[in-house]
Amino acid sequence: MKPVAFDHQFPASLSDAIESFGEGGASLMAGNQSLGPMLNLRLARPEKLIDLASLSDLRAVEETGTLVRLGARITHAEIEDGEVPDPTGGWLREAAGHIAYRAVRNRGTIGGSLCHADPAADWVIVMTTLGATTILQGPSGERRVPIEDFIIGPYLTVLEVGEILTAVEIAKPGAGARWGYWKYVRQVGDFAKASAAVHIDPARGVKRCVVGALGRQPLVLAESEAVLDGSMSVAETIKGALPDRSGTSLAQHVVALERAIAQAMSDGGAS
Ligand SMILES: Cc1cc2nc3c(=O)[nH]c(=O)nc-3n(C[C@H](O)[C@H](O)[C@H](O)COP(=O)(O)OP(=O)(O)OC[C@H]3O[C@@H](n4cnc5c(N)ncnc54)[C@H](O)[C@@H]3O)c2cc1C
Repeated sequence: MKPVAFDHQFPASLSDAIESFGEGGASLMAGNQSLGPMLNLRLARPEKLIDLASLSDLRAVEETGTLVRLGARITHAEIEDGEVPDPTGGWLREAAGHIAYRAVRNRGTIGGSLCHADPAADWVIVMTTLGATTILQGPSGERRVPIEDFIIGPYLTVLEVGEILTAVEIAKPGAGARWGYWKYVRQVGDFAKASAAVHIDPARGVKRCVVGALGRQPLVLAESEAVLDGSMSVAETIKGALPDRSGTSLAQHVVALERAIAQAMSDGGAS
């Protein structure tokens, strides 16, 4: 199958893109790695396709003493290759390198991945674990939305018509921060069947355990601290947080979190 006919637009500026997008009937296109298959299957039938490739604003990268801001059009490959700062001292590079395969990573963007909000996507869980902030620009101006409030369900974000994700901001972890990330895939390049990530940042008071690939937005465990100090069991905590899943096996998610915790506690996860 091929896409329906559409008007392929290359806006001259971010404000032009917002204006055209706000008129309705449009889809935004970044790396086209998720949108492309939807167009080909006619699951998406836009009248016009607004190509973000012409917008250099979305490729801006900024580093300050306390944070790194990555433009939405930074690709997975650029992060993998260390072409942009990695405030975690290696986690972003490693996570990027395990997304799909290189041809997808060359084109797929961090912004496209977060906006697509696939429950099994790598940036969705990694950015949630890091407590990143999304920066949105729309007809009413800019708003900054914590990632946990940005992704509100499977393939669902708070983006409104006319709004574009311009960047994602990651706070720099303090000295001694640690992380762990584990995902189950059937074969290299597949989306995760289960995933979990951990971030411990003593200087910033962060102790966070997150479970992904649950067919919903990432689950941030309210009892992260107790899970990390061993006073609560990983299995019971995950099951307790997902009462609607009683009867379904969460064994892979439990093991994923146990392994992410072990990784964070080992030397491998130091930032
Ligand atoms: C074979 C294959 C395997 C894959 N495996 C994995 C994997 O293992 N892990 C993983 O995480 N991902 C995987 N992906 C997805 C890949 O990472 C995509 O790159 C990503 O999901 C979408 O990024 P994109 O830049 O291609 O966005 P696009 O496909 O261009 O857009 C995706 C959606 O986001 C919207 N959008 C894009 N940019 C913006 C923006 N700046 N503001 C607002 N809306 C925007 C679009 O309108 C569209 O709805 C895989 C993809 C393929 C094809």
